[in-house]
Amino acid sequence: MTKNSGVAELNIPDWAAFLAATYDNRRYFPVGDIHSPSSCFKASQSVDIVSGWKKTIRLIREGLAPPEINLYIHWPFCPSQCSFCFCQMAVPHGREVVKAGLQALKKEIDLFSPIFSGILLSSFYIGGGTPTFMDDDMLDDFLSYIKRYFNFAPGAEIYSESSPATLTKSKLDILLRHGFNRIAMGIETFDNKLLSSLNRQGQTRENSIEAFQMLACVPNLTTDIDLIVGLEGQTPSIFIKDMETALSLKPDCMHLYLFKDSPQTQFSQKSGRVSLEKRAQMEHLLKLADYMAGKAGYRSDECKSSILCDSESTREAPWRRGKGSILALGYGTVSHAFGTLWYHHEMIPASRELPHPVIPPFFSVDFSIEEEMRSFIIGFLGENRFVSRRSFRSLFGVDMLEVDFLSSVLLRMECEGIIRIDKNALFWETEDWLEKAIALKSLYSPFIRDMVLSADHDCFQDFLKRYAVGDQEWRKSVIDSYSRRDCRIYYKINQQ
Ligand code: SF4
Repeated sequence: MTKNSGVAELNIPDWAAFLAATYDNRRYFPVGDIHSPSSCFKASQSVDIVSGWKKTIRLIREGLAPPEINLYIHWPFCPSQCSFCFCQMAVPHGREVVKAGLQALKKEIDLFSPIFSGILLSSFYIGGGTPTFMDDDMLDDFLSYIKRYFNFAPGAEIYSESSPATLTKSKLDILLRHGFNRIAMGIETFDNKLLSSLNRQGQTRENSIEAFQMLACVPNLTTDIDLIVGLEGQTPSIFIKDMETALSLKPDCMHLYLFKDSPQTQFSQKSGRVSLEKRAQMEHLLKLADYMAGKAGYRSDECKSSILCDSESTREAPWRRGKGSILALGYGTVSHAFGTLWYHHEMIPASRELPHPVIPPFFSVDFSIEEEMRSFIIGFLGENRFVSRRSFRSLFGVDMLEVDFLSSVLLRMECEGIIRIDKNALFWETEDWLEKAIALKSLYSPFIRDMVLSADHDCFQDFLKRYAVGDQEWRKSVIDSYSRRDCRIYYKINQQ
């Protein structure tokens, strides 16, 4: 395949082209694909999930899986629904609903915690929703419950989301007492007029600055600010002022999200779409943000939605660095028991009502060590320019080129000039996003590939018809989806 080749000239398997067009992420299925219309996950019982975790723990004890196990808890409630929100959230009608949500999470802790008895978890992240929307007693009680049943390794990152309208001094004290060492403040914008049009109730520029300054006074606490670029009604001058204000507060880390017109947002439900002109403006503002952050002493990183439920997916939590397992509790979360399975919980319905005050149903897919190997390469190559052979060896105890099902594909990709392999790493050679997308998909295992193709059979047939007549649209959409980044992360330069 040559650079900039037309559709008709592409000498590639149809299924890889289809997957590249349909599954718009650079990680390995099922990561991040759970929102696709035809999910391949099967309904599962809790007993199957528990036995999957037991198997993973055996693999860890035998040195066949990385020891890191990360805990994520999803608190779904918020005081109001922001117009740009696509998260798994609900606005509770009354305290009884909140209490039922809390009981369901505790039941899930009861189900899983015995499996992890005696194990030190590597990190804990509580997101949502808005965890600090819990009142003081409930927050204290819930965090005590979590700590009673799970143990964390010394130095583990204990990380919470919060918002200016919900984080009070007393809640901050509760978080600190329970060992939280990192807190993110979801500010999104400092502009008062914009905040009220976005339905971010209770937040103002003034209380956002005050709430962040309260965090900044705490010694040894890592602080984050979240902003969004591209909000409806956000002019370039508002965004520039937002960046200036955020940088003047000197957070340790900033997450700058690009507004997405996901179907779940109120914006999209009013049939809003981000125009091409607006997209171009967002790209321009991102470059400006890079410049401003660089000048203020921050380095930038990029990432693409990947693992956890929506708003959490672009956090640079330890599991994003490619290691270990994730135990995720609550609606809409995605868990990964390394070498055994991926599973997710039922999503919160569009009505934003929580359907059951019990553990939400599980949907899982089996995931072997072979799938982990493929996932490792696809994940690293998808997110970076290279994948390290040494890291692969230290995780799997074998060189990637000694694994038959990998070496045959990788060596062919090298012959075709798509990648370059040296003794340390495997690098992209091509700059063409379409080639990259298809190369990543061609690393899929027959098991996952066939499962996706049969679940999406009708779409695949439709794609083949259009593809056969040389439809160029898919090429454009693949390139757009793979080359776009969803989030910029800026770290203060003295931070890791
Ligand atoms: S954006 Fe955050 S605070 Fe707003 S509704 Fe969604 S989860 Fe809640």
